[in-house]
Amino acid sequence: MTGGSPVDVLVVGGGPVGLGCALYAARHGLTVQVLEPRSGPVDKACGEGLMPGGVAALAELGVEPDGHAFRGIRYLGPTASAVADFRAGTGLGVRRTELHDRLSAQVARAGVEVLPLALDGLDQHADRVEVRTRGHHGTAGATLAARNVLAADGLHSPTRRLLRLDHPVGGRPRFGQRQHFRVAPWSDHVDVLWGARAEAYVTPVADDVVGVAVLSDHRAPLSEHLTGFRPLLERLARCEAVSAVAGAGPLRQRSRRRVAGRVLLVGDAAGYVDALTGEGISLGLAQARAAVAAVVAGRPSQYERGWVAATWRCSLLTGALRQSTRPRLVRRALVPAAAAAPWVFSAAVNELGRAA
Ligand SMILES: Cc1cc2nc3c(=O)[nH]c(=O)nc-3n(C[C@H](O)[C@H](O)[C@H](O)COP(=O)(O)OP(=O)(O)OC[C@H]3O[C@@H](n4cnc5c(N)ncnc54)[C@H](O)[C@@H]3O)c2cc1C
Repeated sequence: MTGGSPVDVLVVGGGPVGLGCALYAARHGLTVQVLEPRSGPVDKACGEGLMPGGVAALAELGVEPDGHAFRGIRYLGPTASAVADFRAGTGLGVRRTELHDRLSAQVARAGVEVLPLALDGLDQHADRVEVRTRGHHGTAGATLAARNVLAADGLHSPTRRLLRLDHPVGGRPRFGQRQHFRVAPWSDHVDVLWGARAEAYVTPVADDVVGVAVLSDHRAPLSEHLTGFRPLLERLARCEAVSAVAGAGPLRQRSRRRVAGRVLLVGDAAGYVDALTGEGISLGLAQARAAVAAVVAGRPSQYERGWVAATWRCSLLTGALRQSTRPRLVRRALVPAAAAAPWVFSAAVNELGRAA
């Protein structure tokens, strides 16, 4: 049984991209509902650095979270370092809980209902999609009807799996972990430290808190990874940890397509390359805008092109950088190469910075 007439857009997932979809859709006067089973300010393993393009996209949606601004990206290796400042705007380090709070408040102001339900299945019809849901403790929820579904249900998207759109990926899987520490930020850049087997990046997220994220294809506890970054470890040893370690992965995910009938995959659900370049949220917001534009035009299939236009540059750069993490020699040469060719490094950072 479905309850009532279909809404224009049902968003699956109330992460930053899902809530961004809801705001873009509401701005176009569409009727919107969001499904998000997790309650309270939703946290997630994330480096929490918003690129200038993402900061601008949020501001356009009326969302201006508190955080700590950063000027650009600094790469630090054992023998060399390279710095690139953003040419336009600043980035913002922002706790996911703060971002979620601010987006949720704006979604509520837009009159969008967020239902505490998870998508459990779906059936596509010529004029609508019927979505089966489940509530807390796995109890069956209502079946909802929508003219279009925007699935922003994350890296391991249940919607992508249901639609059999998962595409196998090669290479060694990489994983990410993060934790927060109470300490005044010591850099006005996001610092990316290149170790022998992992990359650690430090993002200022408040005047007295930094987030430390570690990425690697070697699975080990965060504390073990940090032993590969002596100076950072020594600094953190004197600081109080203010969050539990959270992890995510495998990071690389691919989808065969972004559109299946009236269902559009957005954000991490549409595919993900790596967290190394920290543009996931900004890119996701650009996808949200493109997906809503396709729905408003009445041509969901148009989103495939919009998705490619929004993502190809960043995917190429992130993919190339991800490749460089593997061969030892290339890995060791990366920071010295960035230091030797600062204009190339700056061009890459600014390309990523304008995502969204
Ligand atoms: C270690 C690490 C570091 C990163 N660093 C950065 C960074 O510095 N900057 C940056 O911009 N990005 C970064 N990213 C990427 C960023 O975290 C993601 O790109 C971003 O979270 C994508 O948002 P999303 O809304 O698509 O997915 P998510 O944030 O994963 O949200 C998906 C939502 O869907 C919900 N959901 C799941 N299943 C269902 C279901 N069945 N029904 C309904 N809802 C469901 C979940 O509860 C969740 O709230 C990093 C990622 C990792 C892993």
